[in-house]
Amino acid sequence: MTQSRDAAMQWQVTCQCGWRTHGTREQVIPAVKGHGKQAHGLEVSDEDVMALAVPAAGG
Ligand SMILES: [Zn+2]
Repeated sequence: MTQSRDAAMQWQVTCQCGWRTHGTREQVIPAVKGHGKQAHGLEVSDEDVMALAVPAAGG
């Protein structure tokens, strides 16, 4: 098993409303921020996003 650098790690975030996204930190952070603002009128920080993120299984 190869070690993954943080930058390449895949994450999954599921919103309270059932909306879901996955990808690297670079992808999920803006996606979740955009969703929070558009769908819920919420401003979320990078830390908020990563607090919700769970590592996505490979594949
Ligand atoms: Zn939502």
